[in-house]
Amino acid sequence: MSGGCDIRSTCPYCGVGCGVLLRPDGDGGLQVRGDPDHPANFGKLCSKGSALGETLGMQGRLLTPQINGEAAEWDETLDLVADRFTATIAEHGPDSVAFYVSGQLLTEDYYVANKLMKGFVGSANIDTNSRLCMASTVAGHKRAFGTDTVPGTYQDLEEADLVVLVGSNLAWCHPVLHQRLLTARAKHGTRIVVIDPRRTATCDAADLHLALQPGTDVALFNHLLTQIDAAGMVAPDLDATVTGFAAALAAARVGDVSETGLSPDDIATFCKMWTRTEKVVTVFSQGVNQSSSGTDKVNAILNCHLATGRIGRPGMGPFSVTGQPNAMGGREVGGLANMLACHLDLENAAHRKTVGEFWNAAAPLPDTAGLKAVDMFRAVGDGRIKALWVIHTNPAVTMPDADAVRDAIANCPFVVVSDITGETDTARLADVLLPATGWGEKSGTVTNSDRTISRQRAALPAPGSARPDWQILTQVGQRMGWADAFSWSSPAEIFAEYAALATAALQHGRDFDISGLTGMDDAAYDALPPTRWPARAQGSQQRFFADGRYFHTDGKAKMLPLTQRAPAARTGPKYPFRLNTGRIRDQWHTMTRTARAPRLSAHLAEPFLDINPADAAAMGLQPAALVQVRSPQGRAIFRARHTDAVAAGQVFAPIHWTGETAPAARVDAVIPSANDPISGQPETKAAVVAVEPF
Ligand code: SF4
Repeated sequence: MSGGCDIRSTCPYCGVGCGVLLRPDGDGGLQVRGDPDHPANFGKLCSKGSALGETLGMQGRLLTPQINGEAAEWDETLDLVADRFTATIAEHGPDSVAFYVSGQLLTEDYYVANKLMKGFVGSANIDTNSRLCMASTVAGHKRAFGTDTVPGTYQDLEEADLVVLVGSNLAWCHPVLHQRLLTARAKHGTRIVVIDPRRTATCDAADLHLALQPGTDVALFNHLLTQIDAAGMVAPDLDATVTGFAAALAAARVGDVSETGLSPDDIATFCKMWTRTEKVVTVFSQGVNQSSSGTDKVNAILNCHLATGRIGRPGMGPFSVTGQPNAMGGREVGGLANMLACHLDLENAAHRKTVGEFWNAAAPLPDTAGLKAVDMFRAVGDGRIKALWVIHTNPAVTMPDADAVRDAIANCPFVVVSDITGETDTARLADVLLPATGWGEKSGTVTNSDRTISRQRAALPAPGSARPDWQILTQVGQRMGWADAFSWSSPAEIFAEYAALATAALQHGRDFDISGLTGMDDAAYDALPPTRWPARAQGSQQRFFADGRYFHTDGKAKMLPLTQRAPAARTGPKYPFRLNTGRIRDQWHTMTRTARAPRLSAHLAEPFLDINPADAAAMGLQPAALVQVRSPQGRAIFRARHTDAVAAGQVFAPIHWTGETAPAARVDAVIPSANDPISGQPETKAAVVAVEPF
């Protein structure tokens, strides 16, 4: 500890996973500062993290369970939840129920939810809002490496000579990692390339900004692969570690890089920088993931690193930065509908056997993927899902085609919502509200983007009768008849079981190794320092792929033949604009927490639509005028900002405002639910819309 009263914890916002020091202020709140000893941030915090103490408080908190809007006791509420889920399963089968959870959950919460649904209900209908965040990266990693392995670390960005940021506004969305990059650049002149249709704050420090046409990343990286080959930069011993090079190169040669809309000079400059710099890290984020071709985009990037052997070595490699604080932990415990715990595969009988036996599961584990987020809410809408439990997320606002999702939830026979507040758009539709503890009150672990497991620790008492999510899920599992399997009394016990399962799973030769964390007692768990996995009990902790071995059965990585595909929705006379969406610097998701800090809201106070001045002039739109955005899915209203940061024909709107904060500015109401066919991740950055004065 740094000071007698400091409690070490982790910021609850982005996937950088910064360490914080908490000190109760004696008035029910917390003083928050950066943890100088945390390896993600070394004491630094961004605007959101440094305002954490201002976002606490009881305003709007859900303090007691509610049934149909009336306060209720915990016992009767938990009985009702267990009874309704049990009765629905008995009458309609296990696939008639679903959990929709969140990358905000702690790993222990995630583990219990996943065990309950896949091991005991007997369905794989558990998915997470991380599906909207990085599912394409998971699918891309698995196709290339055989496992969902993030090969590099934050330190690699600091050691690189060239950092390429693809679909990432790192300066606003992962600010502390961006600061680390800029510090490294000041020391040794790292060059930075930003690949993004929009000119963002991240471009301010870039040597080159490639404002490519939306959705054309595969064309660009396919072309780069051809230039790698032409420059003689293919790794000489490639066949020893990688399959698929010839097919990938042949597919790349068929591509047409002019689809990117970039100038030949810019393309040539980028390719020269990439091919001539050995230490290159390619960072990718939501601009890659949130696409109907997101998985192919990921693999197009991985192809280039595999072909050159620029992976598994310091200062080089592909690097996915996750949006949420525990998107990675959710992947590790199998919180997605198509995954099993500990990076095992649902479709693999031997993997299911290991997990099922370890859990002493009530039923055979499902052998096929459950409903992924978009399909899950379609199933809610058409009546296949009859009981839904939503935990710490707000799909009535955040799912694509949000109006249809809101209507589906409203018509679902039984909806449970666990959250810190009952005032979200989704919570208002629930039959049962369960008050959960929030950040600062709950305890467990999270994993950040570079695989570092850190503790979140409680520094405040639970408000009202709020309970931690793991406990609520455990108590429902007990009431559904599985008391032995759901008998934990602390997050430490859950983590111990999880680590033991992970160790048992090592027989299958997967990447996820936390065997060095098995057997921790409560004190050791309490004291757990930030720990990057693999955290092996035995053997070296060497970086992934340094030995040229991957996790496909032949031990090799796979390059994929890829073809550029345009976004699913096409612009035309009726919907002439391409709508991009994203975060702003000082808000988080639907602002449940960040809207409480006036200084955060002062940055950008209201929902806006960025539009190119030429487009604004063509429609006679005055600066700051209200505009209506229409799509086949719905409509939303914003205040126009004229800026050449977006190209003509493109517009940008932030994701944060909801039915609570700006009822007409729910941007997901205009987003179609077009998915990547492999990852199931929806394309939330390439809707087509009409824009008109309001
Ligand atoms: Fe929190 Fe991310 Fe900011 Fe770090 S960079 S303080 S994790 S929001």
